[in-house]
Amino acid sequence: MAKRDYYDVLGVAKNASEDDIKKAYRKLAMKYHPDRNQGDDAKTAEEKFKEAKEAYEMLSDAQKRAAYDQYGHAGVDPSMAGGGFRPGGPGADGFGGFAEAFGDIFGDIFGGGQGGRRGAGGQQVFRGSDLSYAMEITLEEAASGKETQIRIPSWDTCDTCHGSGAKPGTSPKTCSTCGGAGTVHMRQGFFSIQQTCPHCHGSGKIIPEPCTTCSGQGKIKRHKTLEVKIPAGIGEGMRIRSVGNGEPGTNGGPPGDLYIEIRIRQHDIFERDGDDLHCTVPVGLTTAALGGSIEVPTLNGKAEIELPEGTQHGKTFRLRGKGIKGVRSSYPGDLYCHVQVETPIKLTEHQRKLLKELDESFRKGGEKHSPNAKSWTDRVRDLFK
Ligand SMILES: [Zn+2]
Ligand SMILES: [Zn+2]
Repeated sequence: MAKRDYYDVLGVAKNASEDDIKKAYRKLAMKYHPDRNQGDDAKTAEEKFKEAKEAYEMLSDAQKRAAYDQYGHAGVDPSMAGGGFRPGGPGADGFGGFAEAFGDIFGDIFGGGQGGRRGAGGQQVFRGSDLSYAMEITLEEAASGKETQIRIPSWDTCDTCHGSGAKPGTSPKTCSTCGGAGTVHMRQGFFSIQQTCPHCHGSGKIIPEPCTTCSGQGKIKRHKTLEVKIPAGIGEGMRIRSVGNGEPGTNGGPPGDLYIEIRIRQHDIFERDGDDLHCTVPVGLTTAALGGSIEVPTLNGKAEIELPEGTQHGKTFRLRGKGIKGVRSSYPGDLYCHVQVETPIKLTEHQRKLLKELDESFRKGGEKHSPNAKSWTDRVRDLFK
């Protein structure tokens, strides 16, 4: 596919100012943000975003822009773009490079690089961290879905210091290491690498006397209740994302997301395999031999299975549609009932006598009563030949 013109990608004129380019990029970045582009749109949005990011990286750099203006795509190598470290937010787990890229965006646009824009007060802006919450549910709940509430941490601005983190009567001082920029520059080969200031961790400020209420954090951890809707058919380890319910951003940066990870408690009867369920059904020796109907459990009530005469141990019966309908499935899975023939124990004298009589009768009848005996004796004979 032919590469689109960088100016066209951003929708700006060839003589667009640095500011126009930044504005255009920011608009596109918002438009293709993953929060607004889920499901089928996610892939296209990610591509559009990458395209815009590349265009922005080229056109926002005066040298690269000049080279591009003169030679077009041949004049610049996009693989050289973004060579520096960017103090973006941490990438979200399982959410891949896109989230990292978004950390980049907010670093670029709000945090500002060389001569770039900064957040209010000239501080660097960080996206809040993602939070993870493990939730254990029963198999029944996983099958039918569930609406529940969870308590999650939330943060309020500290009343004592009003968010500054400094003890009342004192105030934060400008960081001497970075002069309040929040970043320091290091030269490495041809690149000037921008790094978060190790002294103030990007805030640009040092708090000589931290507020005792919040230990200088400027915020107080509290809790809030969140409604959670667990979709029917959810599987072990699946995660539900709650946008914006992670930790708050720093200096006005966006909050992280909350991920609720589902753990399904082991069930007493059923074992789940994707959309299918399996269970073991004990069947008495005589029922297995004579046949008859037995009752088996399903996730929604009882069902009956007709055992044919002479049912063997390990025989499996499938109950169609009695499994679980997965979140992305069109049909429910099946329930597999595995027959476990039981040998009777604690016999009475009378029962023992009956069994002995039965045994004698079987012996007279020979191998015809034992479906596996013939092949078994054959195999044993072959072994000792
Ligand atoms: Zn405080
Ligand atoms: Zn600093």
